[in-house]
Amino acid sequence: MENDNYRHADLAVLTNSEFVVEQKWREVLDHFGLCPECGYTAHAFIATARHVDGTTKVMTVGSCGLPCGWSGPTEITKMTEN
Ligand SMILES: [Zn+2]
Repeated sequence: MENDNYRHADLAVLTNSEFVVEQKWREVLDHFGLCPECGYTAHAFIATARHVDGTTKVMTVGSCGLPCGWSGPTEITKMTEN
């Protein structure tokens, strides 16, 4: 009975909702961060999810530059703070 709720299983980590109608990803080009699993340079993305009820949720997500499998919420750390 639960299967239909997991149509968006790959997005559920970010949005925990099946009501996402639009999702955009944008890479943070000047992000400077490291993978917490293997220490390699990690990429960062800003994920914007718009829900069917009109709410929008923005999350920052990190992804390892090596295929160690890590990805998860991260804080954007920019090299140019000023
Ligand atoms: Zn890694």
